Amino acid sequence: MIDVQHLSKTFGKLEVLRDISTSVSRGEVVAIIGPSGSGKSTFLRCLNLLETPTEGQIIIDGTDITDPKNDITRIRQRVGMVFQHFHLFPHMTVMNNITFAPMKVKGLSAEEARTKGLQLLERVGLQDKADVYPSKLSGGQKQRVAIARSLAMDPEILLFDEPTSALDPEMVKEVLAVIRDLASTGMTMLIVTHEMKFAREAANTIYFLDGGKLIERADPEQFFRQPQSERAARFLEQVL
Ligand code: ADP
Ligand code: MG
Repeated sequence: MIDVQHLSKTFGKLEVLRDISTSVSRGEVVAIIGPSGSGKSTFLRCLNLLETPTEGQIIIDGTDITDPKNDITRIRQRVGMVFQHFHLFPHMTVMNNITFAPMKVKGLSAEEARTKGLQLLERVGLQDKADVYPSKLSGGQKQRVAIARSLAMDPEILLFDEPTSALDPEMVKEVLAVIRDLASTGMTMLIVTHEMKFAREAANTIYFLDGGKLIERADPEQFFRQPQSERAARFLEQVL
């Protein structure tokens, strides 16, 4: 479903991603791990063109998204993103946060968008919060709303950049449960995470990045039992 070929990204003289090639199948769940500054966020951001790759191709379902002729809005619709800090619109209710883009971009009527919004809120366990403002929610609830908002655009792929890193420990579980549930429905997902237990249990594949390179691409059991590279072994020693 996603084919990444020789992807590189530089900021000025800084080489942040170096010749990354990989492919992701439909329904695959990839956990991306690695030290801070290794390029994890930049890699995700390239996949929905929040960053423009310097070199290489990213082909999603046959469309080369790095071709400047493509419509970026359409690509971002297909590839949703959930951020560490939620990025909800503070002046809109939970429901309006969810219905805004489907109405504006997909042309849904207010009623259609609300019906869909309620289904999605139910899916993330927040059907009773439709009409409250984000400031009244806990961090875990905000992140679940952000996930519902992404799902409202019917993305083919969802990207998560440290979705639980800004949360108090007791809220991490509720967000990971929603992501696990999505995995079980066959959503194709790439998740940057520091939750090693979650990565091991929920992902089909682990990507280990270091210094802008995809150092390992492995089965979780194998990766956590016996990483192939010394760098990954050292990283795991520090975090486990
Ligand atoms: P990670 O998510 O693994 O912590 P990032 O992808 O955020 O890593 O960053 C990788 C490197 O790229 C870091 O050195 C970071 O400072 C640099 N970087 C990221 N975004 C920019 C930017 N917009 N401009 C300049 N440097 C950047
Ligand atoms: Mg990051």
